[in-house]
Amino acid sequence: MEMNFCRRCGQPLTNHHDHVYTCTNKHVIFANTSPAVSAVFVNDNKEALIAIRGLEPGIGNFDIPAVSLMAQKLRKMA
Ligand SMILES: [Zn+2]
Repeated sequence: MEMNFCRRCGQPLTNHHDHVYTCTNKHVIFANTSPAVSAVFVNDNKEALIAIRGLEPGIGNFDIPAVSLMAQKLRKMA
């Protein structure tokens, strides 16, 4: 799938490789579909686990624990 404009800010996108695009505002956009799993963990005190993203896109933003199943498959192939 080819993408021309950033879905977050509307600026033109530059394709870097395969399905990875960036805009002039440095948003990283992935133009592929891949299965992923996420979960919300809540303890007995009804406190939810919130993570802080360590990777782009959205590095430093709040997030919930998740994993791309495609990434797991690629690691097994390595
Ligand atoms: Zn953007």
